[in-house]
Amino acid sequence: MKKHLVVLVLLGISLYSIATDSSNTLTEVKSNNAITVDGITYHLVVSGADKPATKFLTQKLQEITGQTDFTTPLIGAITIKVGDSLPELDKIHPCGYVMKFKDSKNIILSGRNALGTMYAVNDFLKRFAGYRKFGGAPLQEIVPRQKSITVSASFYFKEEPSIQSYAVAWLLNSYFGRSSRVCFPGGHSFDKIIPVEQFGETHPEYYPMIDGKRVKLKPKMTGTWQPCLDNPKLIELSLVYADNYLKKNPAALSIPFVVNDGGGDCQCEYCAAQFAKYGNQYANYYNELAKEVKKRYPNKLVSLYAYGRCASAAPVNVKMEYNLLAACRPEIFHFERPIGIPTAV
Ligand SMILES: [Zn+2]
Repeated sequence: MKKHLVVLVLLGISLYSIATDSSNTLTEVKSNNAITVDGITYHLVVSGADKPATKFLTQKLQEITGQTDFTTPLIGAITIKVGDSLPELDKIHPCGYVMKFKDSKNIILSGRNALGTMYAVNDFLKRFAGYRKFGGAPLQEIVPRQKSITVSASFYFKEEPSIQSYAVAWLLNSYFGRSSRVCFPGGHSFDKIIPVEQFGETHPEYYPMIDGKRVKLKPKMTGTWQPCLDNPKLIELSLVYADNYLKKNPAALSIPFVVNDGGGDCQCEYCAAQFAKYGNQYANYYNELAKEVKKRYPNKLVSLYAYGRCASAAPVNVKMEYNLLAACRPEIFHFERPIGIPTAV
C-alpha cells in the first residue's frame, strides 16, 4: 500500500510538472509556439463549427508561421474557436461579427452567419498578423512570415455594417474587404425571371419592343434586352423566381430583381407611358412587386440596380415601398445623371 502511494505521488508530481511548465517542457516537445500574449509564447490550436472559415484560418496560420499542427490540444494551449455561438451575436446585424479573448485560453471569432464569421477571421488576420488581400493574384496577397502572431491579453471587437449594402470589394477579396454585398446579392435577374429559352417562342410579348417590333431573342440570351412591363404575368413570374431563389439562398437578406445588362428597354406604348408618368420606366413594377414580396416574405428586401434606364431619374407620382433596396452606381450619379432611384431602406 505504501509502495503504491509513493508511485501515485511521483506520477502526480510528473503530471503536474508537464501541466505547469508549458513554456519550457512542451515547447521542446511539440508546441507550435504560434501565438504570443503579453510576451509569453503559447501553443495555438484552431477549432470551430464553421469548417470553411476554420480551414481558411488554419491555412493562413500555416503560411504565416511555417507550423503545420494547429489541431493537437496541449495543456496550456490557447484555442481559437471559429464560429462558436455568443449571446451578443443575437443582437447585432446578420452580417456582423465579434472577436474576443474570452478568457485566458480561448479566443472566439464568430459572426451571426457564415459570412460574418469569414469577416471575423479575415479581420483577425489583418489586425494581428499583418495579413492583406487586394485581389486574386499571388502578388495581391500579403502573408507576412513570422514565428508567432502577437495578440493582447484581452481584446474585444464587435463589428457591424453601418449601411445596408455596398460592393467596393469584389469577389476575389470580398471577405477581406468585408463587402461581399452585405445584404444585397446582386446580379442581373430578368434572364432568370423570364428565360428566353422558356418563353421566347410562346410569349414574344414578354420581351421588348424596339422601333415598333418585338425583338427576336436567342435562347439563353442574358443581356441587351429588358422585360416588357405590359405583361400581366410579370409579377407572378417574379414571385416564382423569388420562391426558387430563397429555397437556394434561405439566409439571403434580399432578393435580387435586377435589370439585365446592356440596355434594350421596351419602347411599347405601355412602357413609354410608365416612363412618362413616373419618370422611371421600372418604378411602378418594382413598387407593385415590393408590395407582394412584403406579404409573402416580410423580412426580405427587394433589391435592384439603379442601372441603365432604371437609373434615369428618381421616381415621381409614386411613393416607393420601404422594402426596396437600390444599389446606385457612383459613375451613374457622377457622370450620367444627377440622381438614381433613391434607396428606400
Ligand atoms: Zn413594353
